[in-house]
Amino acid sequence: QTPGAHTILGHPDSLFVLFFTEMWERFSYYGMRALLVLFLVTTAAKGGWGWSRADATALYGWYTGLVYLTPILGGFIADKILGSRRSVVLGGFIIAAGHACLLFDTPATFYTGLGLVVAGTGLFKPNISAIVGQLYTKENEGGRDGGYTLFYMGVNSGAFFGILLCGYIGENISWPMGFGLAGAFMILGAIQFYFGQGIFGDIGLAKSQQTGTAVVETEAAPHIVADRLKAICVFSFFTIFFWFAFEQAGGSMTIFAADYTDRNLVGTSGMLFKIVNSLMTVIPTIILTWLLIKLFAGTAKRYLLSNALLVVCIGLIWVLVIWMLQREFGLDQSSVPATWFGVLNSFFLVILAPMFSKMWEKHWNPSGPVKFGVGLVLLGLGFAALSYGASSIPAGAKTASVSMVFLIAAYFFHTMGELCISPVGLSYISKLAPARLLGLMFGVWFLNTAIANKLAGYTGSYIDHISETYSLSVFFLIFTLIPIGAGIVLMLLNNWMKKKMHGIH
Ligand code: GLN
Repeated sequence: QTPGAHTILGHPDSLFVLFFTEMWERFSYYGMRALLVLFLVTTAAKGGWGWSRADATALYGWYTGLVYLTPILGGFIADKILGSRRSVVLGGFIIAAGHACLLFDTPATFYTGLGLVVAGTGLFKPNISAIVGQLYTKENEGGRDGGYTLFYMGVNSGAFFGILLCGYIGENISWPMGFGLAGAFMILGAIQFYFGQGIFGDIGLAKSQQTGTAVVETEAAPHIVADRLKAICVFSFFTIFFWFAFEQAGGSMTIFAADYTDRNLVGTSGMLFKIVNSLMTVIPTIILTWLLIKLFAGTAKRYLLSNALLVVCIGLIWVLVIWMLQREFGLDQSSVPATWFGVLNSFFLVILAPMFSKMWEKHWNPSGPVKFGVGLVLLGLGFAALSYGASSIPAGAKTASVSMVFLIAAYFFHTMGELCISPVGLSYISKLAPARLLGLMFGVWFLNTAIANKLAGYTGSYIDHISETYSLSVFFLIFTLIPIGAGIVLMLLNNWMKKKMHGIH
């Protein structure tokens, strides 16, 4: 069976095995992350640890930073010893073991759990991303950016359901159940990958496992490799910049939402919000179920167990979603929780990703630097919406009424920007990296996020200062102008970058 013989949405069906595996891993990551700070700051009487917000966010910062630092090690280990497939399976089980530790309410098990998730993610994340690129060869090269965009939709489907379900269950039912749910889906995801991996043929095997039929990669000449590594550096620089501003937006928008948004949701507007909210939950569930049915119809005979596990997972999601909706309609909704805006990002991403994927394949496929440039301009436009929305707030004000429309518009633009940068970047790493350093280069890519997060945490401390001295609007204006400027610079670098990429589009 040649990999890529069956297609779904014009892509090898094996892409969707990766899609669903990554979806469960991100479900566990984002789901647990949504609970972490809440759990730590909740009083002991309510089952939390009663930490101060500052301590809790400091631990959160360390945790999210380390999760994106270890991929560099995980990528290296896969390149040298394990191969990417074994790394994904091992990483998945280590992550699940980490979540299992969180079920026990002692500091020792809790920190061990966090450590295991960090280590497991290091093995899992860069290597699953590397396998995606190997599904695209000369024959189907044109689908690579689109394929990574669909894969990224899997990332965000996981984030979406994880934040929604683990967050909801942890907060409303019990913390261990929330953490446990994250771990349970990770186990199902890892088993599903393990039993479905035959679909990849020789792709992602360690050298020691290869049967001899694997295509031997011929490496480009040293000066070409050096040039391509330079191109990776330029992409990395702008990506650090993107994630830095994006993280900054996430943090400040939550404050913005909590302090300034019109929160009086009673009567008709409350009902309207509930309906919008329900549609937001149901639409991605329908899209995913449809994808699953496609995958099941195409590959069921070959990978029955793997697919049966997928059916179980999606079935469970439906049950949880329906249960959550029922409860929501039973509760009196009087305000929009600030965290709701965070979920909007993954919602827009799931909805927009198929369109972007098609656009790159069929309609408009400029080179990487142009896509990155457009992404940065879109990021700036999102901040422009916020700046405009905040212009009625006087300097130093603590609460004010501002329409939610500006926040929604900001997330819409930011998500489009993310789609031009994050999945496209993964695609370029897969094209530019020398084959023997593939895992390591994906590790470098995620290192960008670790650096950006650290920087965002550092400059975040100036938000209050700038918004009190000038105004919140000025703060957002800074983030409007800088990304747009950076985007234009990158577009101007297009020809130089194309030379460094030596024929890679
Ligand atoms: N949303 C992306 C993911 O979880 C973010 C990764 C990154 O590089 N920041 O995969």
